[in-house]
Amino acid sequence: MNGKITEKIPYGFMKHEKYDVVVMDSEKMESVKLMFSLCLDGMSLGQIKNVIESQGIEYPAKYKKDKKVGWSLAEIRKILSDPIYGNERYNAIAKEELEIARRMLTLNTRVVGKRMEISALVGIAVCKECGSFLVEKSVSTRGRTYLYYMCGKNKKGKGCSTHKITVEELNKKVLEVMRKEIGDREALCCKDLTREIAIRYLKYVSVDCEGNIEVVWNT
Ligand SMILES: [Zn+2]
Repeated sequence: MNGKITEKIPYGFMKHEKYDVVVMDSEKMESVKLMFSLCLDGMSLGQIKNVIESQGIEYPAKYKKDKKVGWSLAEIRKILSDPIYGNERYNAIAKEELEIARRMLTLNTRVVGKRMEISALVGIAVCKECGSFLVEKSVSTRGRTYLYYMCGKNKKGKGCSTHKITVEELNKKVLEVMRKEIGDREALCCKDLTREIAIRYLKYVSVDCEGNIEVVWNT
C-alpha cells in the first residue's frame, strides 16, 4: 500500500477525510495491537476472538443483511498475517513481532490449563534435526509440574526424537549466549529470559538432541 486507495482498506486504517489517501485509524489500530499481543502470548484464534469481543471491539462490517455479525476466525487470522502492520511507514507492529505471530499461527498452540503466559522460546526454538518448532509440554509428578520444550513433530507422533529439554534449562542457555553476544544491553540485565526480549533479539534458536544451541539473531 503506497497511501493511495486502490483496494479494500485493511482494518486499522481509514480513508483520509479530504484526500484520496489512507491514514491510520488509531483507535482501531489499538485493537490490532491487542490482537497481536494476545497471539504472541500463545492464544488461539478462538481465544483472541473471545477477548476482543468481551472488550466490545466490534467487527467493522457490523451488519450483514440486517443481521449482526461478530468477528470470524478467518478475519482475525487475516489481520495477524498482514505484512501491512509491520510497514515502517505506519510503525504499528514491530517486524519481529509480526514474524513471530505468523509462526504462532502455524504452531497451533494452546494455553496450558489456566496459564496465560507462554514460554519465552515458543515460535523461536526449532528442532535442529527436523526443523519443526519446539512446543511446550507440561509433566506432573508427585504434585509438581515441570515444563519442557520438545520437538513438535515428535509430539504429534510423526517421527523425529523428543529433544526434550526443560524450559528453565534452555532459557538459561539462551540467555547466557545473549549476554556474551550482546553483553551490556540494558534489557539483558534481567534474571530470566522473557518472551519480550526473546522476540526482540532472536530470530531462531536451533536445538539439537543433546541440548546444544545455535542462535540466529534478528538483524
Ligand atoms: Zn524434530
